[in-house]
Amino acid sequence: MKKEKQCQSCGIPLDKNTPQGTEEDGSLSLKYCIHCYQNGQWTLDLSFDEMYDYNLKRFQESDMNKFQKMILSKMYTKKFMRKLDRWK
Ligand SMILES: [Zn+2]
Repeated sequence: MKKEKQCQSCGIPLDKNTPQGTEEDGSLSLKYCIHCYQNGQWTLDLSFDEMYDYNLKRFQESDMNKFQKMILSKMYTKKFMRKLDRWK
């Protein structure tokens, strides 16, 4: 089974809805999504807690259905986010 790639800053799966970010030289980032990382820099220079709140809000406002949002709000904890490379 292929392991799903996810952004190592916000934890969102990298797929066609959430493209990869870009490095300074224009190549695609292998680790981060376009919302978090563009041209080799963070799009949002937020603290861990600020980023967590921001991401939660973004998920809640996305076009996921209620059921997906329910699962996500259980899964998407600070503990989960701490495991991502950016916050290690
Ligand atoms: Zn991200």
